[in-house]
Amino acid sequence: MSDSVKLPKAPRRRAPIDVTQERQPTDAEFADACDLIDWLGPEFHAALREAIGEGKGRPGSVPARAVLVAWTLNAFQEGSRAEHTDVASQIVACSDTQLAALGMSRLPPHRAYARIWDKTTRIHEALEEGFDFAIKGSKVHVDLDWWCDALAQGSIPADLPRSRTRAVDGTDWETCGTFVQPDAEYDGATPPDTDTPLEEHAKTLAKTRARLKGRVPLGPDGRGIYTNDSGARAGHRSANNQHNAGMYNGYEGHLSVQTRDFTYRGRPGELTFGPEVPNVITALRLTEAGAHRGHAAVPMLLAERVPDAGQRATPDRAGTSLSAVVWDRGYSLLAYENAHGPLWMAGIQPTFDLTTAQREQIQVMVDIDWLDGAPFSKHTPSHLRDLPREGRNDTWDERVRLRSLYDERARWRFSHHGLPDADGFVRLICPFHAGRLRATNLPQGKASKSAPLVTLPDGVDKCCSGIVTAAPEFLKLAQAQALLFQTTAWTMAYGPRVLVETGNSLIKDKYATLNRAYTKLMGLAKRKFALAFLIAGINRRIVRAWRAKQADEPGHRRRLRKFEATRAGLVARSSAEVECSASTNATTTTHRSAPTAPPSRVAKPQRSRPGTRRPRTPSPLRT
Ligand SMILES: [Zn+2]
Repeated sequence: MSDSVKLPKAPRRRAPIDVTQERQPTDAEFADACDLIDWLGPEFHAALREAIGEGKGRPGSVPARAVLVAWTLNAFQEGSRAEHTDVASQIVACSDTQLAALGMSRLPPHRAYARIWDKTTRIHEALEEGFDFAIKGSKVHVDLDWWCDALAQGSIPADLPRSRTRAVDGTDWETCGTFVQPDAEYDGATPPDTDTPLEEHAKTLAKTRARLKGRVPLGPDGRGIYTNDSGARAGHRSANNQHNAGMYNGYEGHLSVQTRDFTYRGRPGELTFGPEVPNVITALRLTEAGAHRGHAAVPMLLAERVPDAGQRATPDRAGTSLSAVVWDRGYSLLAYENAHGPLWMAGIQPTFDLTTAQREQIQVMVDIDWLDGAPFSKHTPSHLRDLPREGRNDTWDERVRLRSLYDERARWRFSHHGLPDADGFVRLICPFHAGRLRATNLPQGKASKSAPLVTLPDGVDKCCSGIVTAAPEFLKLAQAQALLFQTTAWTMAYGPRVLVETGNSLIKDKYATLNRAYTKLMGLAKRKFALAFLIAGINRRIVRAWRAKQADEPGHRRRLRKFEATRAGLVARSSAEVECSASTNATTTTHRSAPTAPPSRVAKPQRSRPGTRRPRTPSPLRT
């Protein structure tokens, strides 16, 4: 007998799979799960049944819709895991009425696991292969990326406020596969850290891949497979409270999280925020670890649509496109044409942190100095040129001082003179011609009344040589940051990026534990299928928290008033003590100014009106 024949394994005796461990879903939980799956629409369900050949095989199997509802019920439970056993238990635990609503009869417990496993496999295979359905005349193509976005969007109720701004971040997901190759090496397209320039990483990567060839099994993407999960790849992750920084094997998820809109009116010291919105996850892409982040996150952002106010999203993605995205250096280090370029073309303005390489000063045009990726006048004073980055340990005062320097420098910038033309050429105008600065030794046309008067060096009699036309390449060098780096406006816009962490902490820790043990499903397709349900569950939790917070608004205002009264009382008392000690200690020559009370409604003398309550006597703050 030849060695190449793979013989089947002998059956093993094992305990039957227990699917009776779940409690019966409450009517509210059941209704929520059905609502999400039915939101996909009868057209989707008909196309799915067609794709998996439902109704043609043996009668009495579990309908696809029932399996999807069971997966949803499982994901709506905190701390659940994506296991077929748990999903089968959900179906077994349903009441007769609930089963009738799912169009199925009670399954014998010993068959439930196999039936659920079977139907789940057929569903995610159909999703992986892709199929189309039509809704109101427009064709919708279904694949696993659409599936992830759809469950995220479908879990956001119609009445919640929506925005067109997103924060994006990645999250690692380790595979459950065991190592079969020792000495795994990182061979991903993304640099292992944000300080490694792209060109340098490309050189290292070529060497690594050459070394791996013939030594380890390679996937169709040419990357090493180190575990018995053939979909998992090596990736790099930063440290957190669960693991150290370093290499891992598995997958990376990119989350798009809704944050509130902002408006920039050309003043670097100001930014106007729109109304608060719940920080729900609105889209999701799962890739192999170390895969190109731009190729995953950019199509996700381009595909996203925001439904009109008061409307729920639709499976065919009706609505308006995004207007702004905030992301960190893990994305902004990417080449312009893979990240910010396509976003700008689609009208999505990026705000991002600059990498060390992006902060280097490159001379692009004679008349223009490039500082932190933006065009500035060559007369920009030297004390504003090489400004440090805001440090993690800087005090508040230091931060404010640094920001004011960046704001001051912003006056020296070249600004866009009109929109770029069809070929991408853009006209730039100098700060003196734009009237943002006035100079003592320059003949100048009209300037803004608030423009500061500056003195240019001796011998300078010209601010620039007129309006400059910059080639499209200029945008690539500038990386096209929407706001000037580190100005007050930029800092305010970049701040909400941390809101991605709320979703991240729910995924990793507080709602579910997305680690090696979360699922035994292997391969990208199965994991995309399962992760979509978890995101819907997390959104449901975020929405509940948002509603509770809105309901607590009057109570919060009351507590805030009490807090302000207490604080005003403390300030008033301490200033009285200072005055008292100053009058008793008359020989002291140094003058100490009494701290002034902060402006507060309660601190002002109030006219007493009939029916108004007297202000509470200040009580000391609890620390
Ligand atoms: Zn000029």
